[in-house]
Amino acid sequence: MNSLASLDVAGKRVFLRCDLNVPLKNGEITDDGRIRASLPTITNLLDRGASLVIGAHLGRPKGEAKPELSLQPVAERLSELLSQPVDFITQGSAKILLLENLRFNTAETSKEDGERSAFAKDLAKLADVYVGDGFGAVHRKHASVYDLPALLPHAPGNLVQAEVEVLKKLTQSPQRPYGVVLGGAKVSDKIGVISNLLTKVDVMAIGGGMVFTFLAASGKEIGTSLVETDLIPTVKELIATAQSKGVKLVLPTDIVVAPEFKQDSAPTLVSADEIPENQMGLDIGPESAAAFAAEIKKCKTVFWNGPMGVFEFPNFAHGTKVVAQALTEVDGISVVGGGDSAAAVRALGFKDSDFGYISTGGGASLEYLEGKVLPGLQALGL
Ligand code: AMP
Repeated sequence: MNSLASLDVAGKRVFLRCDLNVPLKNGEITDDGRIRASLPTITNLLDRGASLVIGAHLGRPKGEAKPELSLQPVAERLSELLSQPVDFITQGSAKILLLENLRFNTAETSKEDGERSAFAKDLAKLADVYVGDGFGAVHRKHASVYDLPALLPHAPGNLVQAEVEVLKKLTQSPQRPYGVVLGGAKVSDKIGVISNLLTKVDVMAIGGGMVFTFLAASGKEIGTSLVETDLIPTVKELIATAQSKGVKLVLPTDIVVAPEFKQDSAPTLVSADEIPENQMGLDIGPESAAAFAAEIKKCKTVFWNGPMGVFEFPNFAHGTKVVAQALTEVDGISVVGGGDSAAAVRALGFKDSDFGYISTGGGASLEYLEGKVLPGLQALGL
């Protein structure tokens, strides 16, 4: 296997694919975790005498040059964190050049192999070797992730290597009990991972907006809560699979509801059996949070993806906080999967070091756990 250490980079130009897809608010970076996670590979390459062309994406501009999705603020933060100049878009005298958002070009994400490959050929002209370190994008068959490494000597970066090692611990003989906690908005995003993990875990706890499809599938009234009605039959099957496999499926017993999806909408605590018809569930209740925490703390391996409620609104952040706290107390390995979940725990005041591992890639780690082949890892020989 190609490794970063054995790749000849001294005096070479390295195309480094990073994941610098950070959350922005009014042009300001609100969580720079992904930039920080990219630093070890950047400094490794610079220390070994390479110069860098960094390619990355931000958001989903769908082939349009949207100013609000420019990587300019990222270039500035990167320069601050490295205490050295970073050229942006045009090469100056710096050792590092950050290209503009690769997704401003439709070819980056094109489904047409020819289009992507032509773009990859242009990118290949910018460098002598390729290092793939954008873990958050390895599940995408994109030009800079999948096609470009085939054109240059290549190796995975430190971040991609570390992410894969952790995910291997979760998939190859994990220490038991093995628990998984899933939340977030949509069940549709997580059907694949739920169904694969049901063959592997001992306990599965479900909260967040997606839980209401589970409660509806169990015959409960869910008021105006988020629901994916078309998935109720699938979710019924998942519940039956959990039963037949002996997986303990933990669903909330109490719910914090409010009349509207608003920060200051008045919260009320109700039983999960009695959600009023004109109210929506915006968090799991304290009894449920305590039950989830107790299950988490019994485990030796825990994976968590997706908030338990609308944690962006302080009144509905309690469930997510309690689950995050329980993960910090696991006597074993605790993994927070995903950019959004990672940003959530940092926003709630937890430190990265409180957890066993915080993955930078939500979609990528879920697809890995689903057992899928990830194009960006395949391209790097991983
Ligand atoms: P995801 O990207 O699927 O992980 O979803 C994250 C989003 O789910 C966050 O922005 C939360 O605000 C949202 N969310 C969590 N719980 C709920 C809920 N009960 N109702 C609506 N949205 C929710």
